[in-house]
Amino acid sequence: MYRFAPSPTGDMHLGNLRVAILNYLCSLQDKSGFIVRIEDTDKERNIEGKDQEILEILTKFGIKWDQLYYQSENLKFHRQLASKLMIDKRAFACFCTESELEAKKENAKAKGIAYRYDGTCEKMSDEEVLACEKPFVIRMKKPKETMKFTDAIKGEVSFEPENVDSFVIMRADKTPTYNFACATDDMLEGVTFVIRGEDHVSNTPKQELIREGLDYTSKIRYAHLPIILNIEGKKMSKRENESSVKWLLSKGFMPEAIANYIISLGYKAPVEIFTINDAAQWFDISKVSPSPAKFDIKMLEHINREHIKLASSERLATLSGLDENLADLIKFYTQEASLLNEIKQKIEAIFAPKNIPDEFKSECEIIKSAVNSMNLDEFQSFDEFKKALMSSTNLKGKSFFMPLRILLTNEQHGPELSELFPLIKGNLKEILK
Ligand code: GLU
Repeated sequence: MYRFAPSPTGDMHLGNLRVAILNYLCSLQDKSGFIVRIEDTDKERNIEGKDQEILEILTKFGIKWDQLYYQSENLKFHRQLASKLMIDKRAFACFCTESELEAKKENAKAKGIAYRYDGTCEKMSDEEVLACEKPFVIRMKKPKETMKFTDAIKGEVSFEPENVDSFVIMRADKTPTYNFACATDDMLEGVTFVIRGEDHVSNTPKQELIREGLDYTSKIRYAHLPIILNIEGKKMSKRENESSVKWLLSKGFMPEAIANYIISLGYKAPVEIFTINDAAQWFDISKVSPSPAKFDIKMLEHINREHIKLASSERLATLSGLDENLADLIKFYTQEASLLNEIKQKIEAIFAPKNIPDEFKSECEIIKSAVNSMNLDEFQSFDEFKKALMSSTNLKGKSFFMPLRILLTNEQHGPELSELFPLIKGNLKEILK
């Protein structure tokens, strides 16, 4: 069982999408199932509607989940499991106040040593704990031995007890911390493989420690993905346009192209152009490179162009929000486009009011009125249409072709009119209106 566990606290960026796609892809391989879990326990950072936006984006990428959970619905389990850990003495109530802890942190800083929880409340007897009426958090007792796990990408990873530390699992307001909610939900939901960003590596021993404390014995496997760099080789910031999935879609990158490129990041794929389903035949998560991957928008444009060529006209029409009746015209414009927006702009320009330079204004008027009085059904080809129009307008050469091109395409350069004409013949009067 795989899962994607986004927090509804911001826009979906490439890093999140990569995690979603790779988890989904691997779930297709072993057919174990795929969960989406909205991690909405941090009420202050949640943004209204972001959960829906994330689900819509996943749907655009063809990602289907078997189960959808909202983490906040598990709050009662989080509380029960935290109590169990305290009863079993794997966790303890900690009454240290913020200011006490802050002073200890400052002290450690002044000495130039890393701050670690000093165990003050762990030493309290049950009687002392029961007698204390101050608000408290619950802390996990730090591990006794080195914690090790095998990462499918990074290999062996180990953490010393000091670095796992006695960390907080429940806050004073009785809400779980990320590590606790995540560790227990993965257990309750039967997750068997966690693929997520490298920034979570140091959370893994904490989550393992929590499940060990609950005597959960099923093994969870891990793969932590290296970070994505921008073209300059710096860590891609969430604020960069190119890292926003919404932005890439709005520019006319197709979901299938973005998915294709994302799967290829740090991976030697056997072919250049493929779908998520194709990749399920050969992808091996353990072959993802442990080094950071570089995001190159030019490469994505190239992949997009290839997917545009492969897509059906109906798919292109749906994605670019154009009428399906224009399918043939859409297909025609795919020859030269790297982005769906380029196709859309060209087609919208055909139907928009025309920008006619002064030098062609009178010719355009003549052509328009001539076309209006014609029965267009009579013409089988552009050649027949052209001949009839030339003779009825008495125009020829550049003073015929240039105004005609502007009237039909809103541009002074572009495709062969003879190829374009059959595709717009049915809409000619609307185009010239
Ligand atoms: N909500 C966490 C995040 O978005 C999930 C991390 C995880 O996959 O465990 O970073």
